[in-house]
Amino acid sequence: MKLPQTHAAAAADFLKDTERSHWHDDTLWHVRSKRDATAEKIPEWEQLRMLASQIKDHVLSNLDNLLVQFEKNAKANGIEVLWAKDAQEHNEHVLRILQENQVKQLVKSKSILTEECGLNHFLEDKGYEVVDTDLGERIIQFNKQVPSHIVMPAIHLKKKEIGDIFHKHLGTDAGADDPQYLTEAARQHLRQKFIQAHAAITGVNFGIAETGGFVVCTNEGNADMGTHLADIHIACMGIEKLIPRAADLGVFLRLLARSATGQSITNYNSHFHRPRKDKKMYLILVDNGRTKQLGREDFRNSLKCIRCGACMNTCPIYRRSSGFSYNSTVPGPIGSILSPGMDLKKHSTLPFASTLCGSCSDVCPVKINIHEQLYKWRQVITKEGPSEPSKKWAMRFGGQVMSKPRLFDLMGKMARKSLSISPRGFVYNSFNAWGKHRELPEVPKESFKDWYQKNRKK
Ligand code: SF4
Repeated sequence: MKLPQTHAAAAADFLKDTERSHWHDDTLWHVRSKRDATAEKIPEWEQLRMLASQIKDHVLSNLDNLLVQFEKNAKANGIEVLWAKDAQEHNEHVLRILQENQVKQLVKSKSILTEECGLNHFLEDKGYEVVDTDLGERIIQFNKQVPSHIVMPAIHLKKKEIGDIFHKHLGTDAGADDPQYLTEAARQHLRQKFIQAHAAITGVNFGIAETGGFVVCTNEGNADMGTHLADIHIACMGIEKLIPRAADLGVFLRLLARSATGQSITNYNSHFHRPRKDKKMYLILVDNGRTKQLGREDFRNSLKCIRCGACMNTCPIYRRSSGFSYNSTVPGPIGSILSPGMDLKKHSTLPFASTLCGSCSDVCPVKINIHEQLYKWRQVITKEGPSEPSKKWAMRFGGQVMSKPRLFDLMGKMARKSLSISPRGFVYNSFNAWGKHRELPEVPKESFKDWYQKNRKK
């Protein structure tokens, strides 16, 4: 059986560019530090996290009733509500809406769900022009890449590279990399696209069951520009994005931007309730594996995620290996517990892409026990999933040694002896990836067990 490329192999590709990997690490750590600084200014931060977590627990336990309530209220507001069991059905709903309304050009604001469903390729293959209007998304769309981060999709690119991309696609001056100049060029370019488009697609950050309305959060106002100018608004929402009441919204808005980028609030928190006069509004509620995840007792609370990206910014593996190494729409720690639920074979190495340090769980605004779930997935995968034969063999061998105290003592003795007499090149060579950047501690003369037996009486 041929296994897909492992996270480690994909990470090794990224790490070949040492300077970029250091820069990526520093950049994301800077965002994490901003998150800490702003969170520390809120005395009730931990209570907010607790409350958000409890609200989301309530949502997951009552998802069926809340969804029915949400649909009823949204319909009463004049929104056409559609349900999609998977990505294919979601994409077909969008296609049908575009066909019925004879739309050929559309603008899209950032939506991780439409990335998950592969909507852009689906529509482009059928001759539609889909323009991503979030600046970072537009950059990677020009560059024919997928987002490497859920909040900062082009965080893997440097200014100079963005300047080159804009020179190629927008005709900016060769070599120009001034952010203000480049942003102005993008603004002029996107203005035209907003004016030409007849439909606007947005994601949904929060759907409010009590009102049937929903909220879209952007820093650039691009969701508003798109939806205000176009006749058709199609909002695509994962079914877990619900909150029960409008009064709950403030809890999440206070946490979201602070956790994501260290801002006090996202620049535009746009509320949509009903279509404007003579315009149409559609809302597609997408399952695509979410109810299956809800049924997995150990992993269900991963659905509480509000997609702030904080677990990525803090993760020592993500920061050094980049989002592309995860080969999944949602990368980083949360992606590593969501993706195996979607396709265990494809994503079986992701739960191992973690030090299990728990930093992800510590920063998560909705208190998902991410590192515990990573550990749980490892157990599932080792038992029933595909894993590398060498790893399986090593684990079996380790299990044998550790379950037999005499064998364990003997192996320890042999390892200490051979390490102390081996020439350096025997331990640190091209076969030992671990030793490339690390030194083993000095080998002790005796085991801890021997030392303890000698010293316990003292
Ligand atoms: S798991 Fe938590 S920290 Fe990570 S993106 Fe989701 S809400 Fe943010």
